[in-house]
Amino acid sequence: MKITDHIKNAQGKTLFSFEIVPPVKGKGIQELYNNIDPLMEFKPPFIDVTTSREEYVYIERDGLLDKKLTRMRPGTVGICASIQHKYKVDTVPHLLCGGFTKEETEYVLVDCHYLGIDNIMALRGDARKEEKYFNPTQGGHSYAKDLVKQIKDLNCGNYLHDTIDAANSADFCIGVAGYPEKHLEAPSLQTDLKRLKEKVDAGADYVVTQMFFDNQRFFEFVAAARDMGIDIPIIPGIKPIAVQRHMQLLPQVFRIDLPEDLIQAVDACKNNAAVRQVGIEWAIQQSKELKAAGVPVLHYYSMGKSDNIHAIAKALF
Ligand SMILES: Cc1cc2nc3c(=O)[nH]c(=O)nc-3n(C[C@H](O)[C@H](O)[C@H](O)COP(=O)(O)OP(=O)(O)OC[C@H]3O[C@@H](n4cnc5c(N)ncnc54)[C@H](O)[C@@H]3O)c2cc1C
Repeated sequence: MKITDHIKNAQGKTLFSFEIVPPVKGKGIQELYNNIDPLMEFKPPFIDVTTSREEYVYIERDGLLDKKLTRMRPGTVGICASIQHKYKVDTVPHLLCGGFTKEETEYVLVDCHYLGIDNIMALRGDARKEEKYFNPTQGGHSYAKDLVKQIKDLNCGNYLHDTIDAANSADFCIGVAGYPEKHLEAPSLQTDLKRLKEKVDAGADYVVTQMFFDNQRFFEFVAAARDMGIDIPIIPGIKPIAVQRHMQLLPQVFRIDLPEDLIQAVDACKNNAAVRQVGIEWAIQQSKELKAAGVPVLHYYSMGKSDNIHAIAKALF
């Protein structure tokens, strides 16, 4: 079922959902299930599964370094299918422009259609680790908006290169990313919002936001988006701080601000167990206020162990 239909059916009740990251290549799926199992108590209507960009590894051979392209966390669509089958919930594979040609994207979309996956999160992806800027893959898309358009075309039965007369076209519901504190490359929040509007005009059905720690940023972002004519559901993404290192890492990687109160609370912690608890309490307060404001879904970023997401959901759902 489409995310937008889950939201409609909930009739104003806030839903719970979360995002997981595929295990590193070579590991089994059981650990993922062990982390999903406790969260099923809160009846998520959908679970997102991220996709990682390809990266270079250097393999030493005869004293020389051989540069090889690899994908450390493959299997997004397979994991989605497996979760749908095991838990009977919808899944949302994340699709990236970076690292995929349009043809490869079409193959993935065809797989998703066959597997009964009704939702796709359409993203550009970040620059590769060793590159300063995002370089589009040859034969791939430059912006998420173009990927949205490809999915929308497929929904109308239009395959690449006009090779197929589709009798049974897909009908994907399309999610896109939004940034309450602007995307790190955008020159201003207003310009970034214009770009978001372009994604909506290309056919996006809902937005999920980047993490933020000050709800005011989210409320202002939603108001500005509405002013710009963006009228699709906007879902807040919440990440509980889990370790001390997040305090440096998150602002550095995502260019987001951390509130002074949160910084002080984490500074006062003697170990990471205490930091994790602060992260849980902060996310509970954030979530309560967002829920009271009537957000359609509270969507949690769960990296690895899900005990913190469980504690937050227990206080809210
Ligand atoms: C909810 C969520 C889930 C995510 N999941 C993943 C994941 O699974 N895997 C992963 O690798 N990353 C993921 N990301 C990160 C995302 O890939 C990065 O933030 C990426 O840098 C931007 O992706 P986007 O889809 O927002 O890009 P876009 O919407 O294409 O925007 C990228 C930048 O280009 C600008 N822009 C857009 N159109 C134009 C134009 N026509 N001309 C000039 N500038 C333009 C925008 O303002 C923005 O600065 C996720 C992010 C979010 C918020």
